Amino acid sequence: MSLAHGRNYLAIPGPSVMPDRVLNAMHQAAPNIYEGELVDMVAGLIPDLRTVARTEGHVAIYIANGHGAWEAALSNVVAAGDKVLVLATGRFGHGWGEMARALGAEVEVMDFGNRSPIDLAQVDTRLRADRDGDIKAVMAVHVDTATSVLNDIAGVRATMDAAGHGALLMADCIASLGCDRFEMDAWGVDIMVTASQKGLMTPPGLGFVFFNDKAAAAQLDRVSNYWNWAKRAAPDYLYEYFNGTAPTHHLFGLRAALDLIAEEGGIEAVWARHDRLAQAIWAAFEVWGNAGPLELNVAEAAHRSRAVTAVRIGAPHGTALRQWVEHKAGVTLGIGLGMAEPEDPAWHGFFRVGHMGHVNAHMVLGVLGVIEAGLQALDVPHGDGALAAAARVIAEG
Ligand SMILES: *Cc1c(COP(=O)(O)O)cnc(C)c1O
Repeated sequence: MSLAHGRNYLAIPGPSVMPDRVLNAMHQAAPNIYEGELVDMVAGLIPDLRTVARTEGHVAIYIANGHGAWEAALSNVVAAGDKVLVLATGRFGHGWGEMARALGAEVEVMDFGNRSPIDLAQVDTRLRADRDGDIKAVMAVHVDTATSVLNDIAGVRATMDAAGHGALLMADCIASLGCDRFEMDAWGVDIMVTASQKGLMTPPGLGFVFFNDKAAAAQLDRVSNYWNWAKRAAPDYLYEYFNGTAPTHHLFGLRAALDLIAEEGGIEAVWARHDRLAQAIWAAFEVWGNAGPLELNVAEAAHRSRAVTAVRIGAPHGTALRQWVEHKAGVTLGIGLGMAEPEDPAWHGFFRVGHMGHVNAHMVLGVLGVIEAGLQALDVPHGDGALAAAARVIAEG
C-alpha cells in the first residue's frame, strides 16, 4: 500500500521546499514595471541580500540559475588566456572549472577527491610556486552539493595571504548560503555566487553575484552588456538591474523569503536551526551505520555541510531506497552525483538528503522515519536506535 498521499517533501539539495509565504507572494497580478511599488520593493531587496551574505559589497542579480551565476562571475573578471586555480571537492567544483575552460581560461584543477575538504597545505605549496603571480583567480566551492563537503573558505584566504598571493578569491555559495555560516567580508572573499532555489527558498531562476571593490577594479575592459555587473549593481532604473525586463514574480517570492529569514531572528538564527537539524540527521546516520552498509560520505563532522548530506549505501540500495520512500511515503531524496558513472551499476549505491531552507524538526524527523521504514522494508541491514538518537538531538534543542 502507498502511504504517499498527503504533502510531498522534496528532500533534494535544490530546488528546495518553497514556503507557502513565497508561493502566495508570487500569486498576484502583473505589476507596473515603470514606477510604484515594485521599483521600491526591489531597491529594498539589496540591503537584505547583503545582510544574508554578510557583506557591504555590491550585488548583481541575474535571471539565471546557478550555472548562469557561474558564467556571470567569470565573464566579468576572467578573460581568454587567464589562468585560474580550481580547488575541487566534488562535481560542482569541476563544473565551475569546466565553464571557465569553455570561456577560454587556462584552468588548473587541484582535485581533493569526493570525501575530503580542500587541503590548505597543498594550496599553500601551489601558490608559493606561482612566483610571477600568474594565477588570476582561486575558485572554490563552499559546500559541494554532490559530496556534501564543507570547505574552509576563510582558510583559503588565509593561505593566499600567507603566500603573499594577490589572486581574486571566488566562492560558490549556491548550496550553502542561508544554511552554513558564510561571512563574505570577514573571510576575505572577493566574489561570491549564489542562486535563489536553495537556502533562499525561492523558485529556480535568480542568480546572484556579490563582489567587492577589489573585484570591481579587476573588471575586464570587455564584458557583454548582459553579463556586465556594473550597471546591475548601480542601476538608475528598474530595467538596469536586470538588463531588461525584471523577473517580477520571482522578486515577490524573494521578498517573502528574505522576510522569513528576518522574522526568524536573522541569518544567525537560520544557521543555528540548520546546525541543529543537521546534527539530528548525522546522529541517525551514524547509528544506522553501526551495522550494515550505510555510511556518511564525509567522515568528520567538521567537514560536513548543514545544507545537504551525501550517503553511501551500496548498490542497488540507493536507488531502491529512493524509489521506496518516494512511492510509499511521499519523500523525494536526491540522487548520488559524481560518485559513479550513470551506466556503472555502482551508481545505484548513493543518495543525498537535502535539508536546506524551509525545513524544520518535524520534516527532518519525518524524512529520517521514512528512511528507517524503507531500510526495514528493503531488508537493508542497519544499526538500531537511529530515530531515538535523532530525537535526542532535537529534544536538546
Ligand atoms: C545547485 C548548485 C549549482 C548549480 O546550480 P543550478 O541552478 O543547477 O545551475 C552550482 N554549485 C553548487 C554548489 C550548487 O549547489
